Amino acid sequence: MAIEVVRIGQRLVRDDRVTTHVALVSRAFGAERIFMTEVNPDIKDTLSKINETWGGSFEIEFVENWKHIIREKKKSSKIIHLTMYGEPINDIQDDLMAENDILVVVGAEKVPREIYDIADWNISVGSQPHSEISALAILLDRIQSGKQFGMEFPNARRKIIPAKKGKDVVMAGTMADNMAETRD
Ligand code: SAM
Repeated sequence: MAIEVVRIGQRLVRDDRVTTHVALVSRAFGAERIFMTEVNPDIKDTLSKINETWGGSFEIEFVENWKHIIREKKKSSKIIHLTMYGEPINDIQDDLMAENDILVVVGAEKVPREIYDIADWNISVGSQPHSEISALAILLDRIQSGKQFGMEFPNARRKIIPAKKGKDVVMAGTMADNMAETRD
């Protein structure tokens, strides 16, 4: 399953911390790229440093118009719009798991009415308002059943060795010898 994410809405740049976290969750939970209509260069820089250190090739792509990207992607992917008004994820997750390529749409502020019609699926993660960060994380976890956490991020400079206590990090170059370095 190839996963892409688009965050729609205005003032993404002013909402820097949330925007960065939507991008970080997308990357860590197995998406290939995120499309945004505004991109603060600092956010691009943060994500490219994360890629350099922790591996993978997650992309932030600027799009002039979210409608164009959704219409274009709809030719080959299913569009999943996350909204508290949608069908409950508990009822639909098996259907979503059977899909191939998907584009997940999350909002920032008020979402235009037409997105509900363009979407193949309008999905709620509970019928209460919360956040695009949590809704995205839960959707991506449900449809991949946790497999995303076993994913390799190629060309990482650092790799975490899960530890019961403390922090074990293998540095590039020592990975072949599997030498763990303990950091504070
Ligand atoms: N009032 C906005 C609206 O008209 O949709 C909601 C904005 S909310 C802060 C930002 C985004 O979080 C929403 O567009 C949606 O993608 C996501 N979200 C929030 N609560 C959700 C829920 N219960 N289920 C699914 N997605 C949710």
